[in-house]
Amino acid sequence: MTPRAAAATTFVVLGLGLVVLLALATPWHPLGAHAPHVPVDPRRDFTAAEIAKERAFHGAVRPPAYAALLVGLAAALALGCTRSGGALVQRVPGPWPVKAALGGLALALVPQVLTLPLDARAEVVLRRYGLSTQTWSGWAADQAKGALVGGVLLVVVAVGLVGLARWRPQTWWAWGATGAALLVCLLSYVYPVVVEPLFNHFTPLPPGPLKTELLDLARRDGLPVHDVLVADASRRTTALNAYVSGYGRTRRIVLYDTLLAKSTPRETELVVAHELGHVKHHDVRTGTLAGALGAAVVVAGLYLLLTSPALLRNAGADGAQDPRALGLVLAAIAAATAVTGPAQSLVSRRIEARADVHSLDLTGDPDTFVSSEKTLARSNLADLEPNPVVYALFFTHPSSPERIALARAWAERAAARR
Ligand SMILES: [Zn+2]
Repeated sequence: MTPRAAAATTFVVLGLGLVVLLALATPWHPLGAHAPHVPVDPRRDFTAAEIAKERAFHGAVRPPAYAALLVGLAAALALGCTRSGGALVQRVPGPWPVKAALGGLALALVPQVLTLPLDARAEVVLRRYGLSTQTWSGWAADQAKGALVGGVLLVVVAVGLVGLARWRPQTWWAWGATGAALLVCLLSYVYPVVVEPLFNHFTPLPPGPLKTELLDLARRDGLPVHDVLVADASRRTTALNAYVSGYGRTRRIVLYDTLLAKSTPRETELVVAHELGHVKHHDVRTGTLAGALGAAVVVAGLYLLLTSPALLRNAGADGAQDPRALGLVLAAIAAATAVTGPAQSLVSRRIEARADVHSLDLTGDPDTFVSSEKTLARSNLADLEPNPVVYALFFTHPSSPERIALARAWAERAAARR
């Protein structure tokens, strides 16, 4: 078998494996296939003024946000599919590791800089609607930290890829696929410990009835947590959120201080019960496994692209061992991310619905679920009637009216069983 045939076979086999994993692990009917049907109706729970406000907000924030996505993708494709990306890398003096590291950074910086004004524009809209509480210096610091995290990762990938291709010109893709899969696993483990603290400051929730309730909730769920922490998210946002991170003895509940300020203890419990649902169903583990498989598929696919004479000629590069090919690599990753986005969103929505069902099962409180969902939707200015295209591409969670309808269907099912 030629190296290209081996890479192509791996690409297809692992790709199919990923599809099968997602098909089997995704809860397609979180409430069961025969659950009662409750129509999704935003007008039942939200006033005309609330709907008008969220529409005006989305009408203002979406154009710059989507323009930023398009511009970023177009810039990555332009750098990868023409000689401009290779020429940019060629300007970096020094041996190949320096060329790969700094050239890779320069390639990633171009789309970032081009989209910065659009990101700033979206931030202006968020502030106008009271959703962002950041100052420009805080916003700039977050952008810089985000770029730093992305930059470190990019240097590892760029130098690793070019280095592997120089070391093993025929089989680098097999080493690379293994390495990329391991990197995804490592990041999933390290992210909450290393990256989260860069953006938030955590303090333990002081002892009190809420803390006792939350620890008890987790224990009843068979998922004891080590501590309940509060993140100072109000420095940047008014959005309400919570999550559970860490494994085993380091498992902890993290509450945004905004959630504590705006929700009743009962509502906070519902949100935490949803997060426990993700832990209970091993959603992070499944997501990491899918991400690892996806990363391996991408590397095998990269080998196929980087051995294509036509693409290399367009990019002005000699092959994967040539740092000038990094533009093509980044373009392929950007395109793969864009193309698989709708599938990722679809799977994510089902997983989120299952966590909602878990929250209802654990608390048995659909009324608070509905009121809490309304609070969240009003506070986060959720899109109550998303356009189908926007929904398919970007909705990683069901819409608020869908979540409310799910809670009502859950209640109807529970009443019928009684
Ligand atoms: Zn969730």
